[in-house]
Amino acid sequence: MSTVIVHCPCCDSNEVYRHGLSPTKRERFHCQCCRRVFQLIYRYEARTLKIGINTVIQALKSLRPAG
Ligand SMILES: [Zn+2]
Repeated sequence: MSTVIVHCPCCDSNEVYRHGLSPTKRERFHCQCCRRVFQLIYRYEARTLKIGINTVIQALKSLRPAG
């Protein structure tokens, strides 16, 4: 059993737990700190593209429905 250290993209807490799969079969995580659900894939993409985490956070915010 491997352990993956995942940090919440919203509050950077490591109090995150697996939260099943998204409709696109990507792992989702639930943050105990701010209670948000996010997908780990964003972290991977950020690392691959060598862009800052702030860019990813902005992208995540833009994906949220308005209101
Ligand atoms: Zn959080």
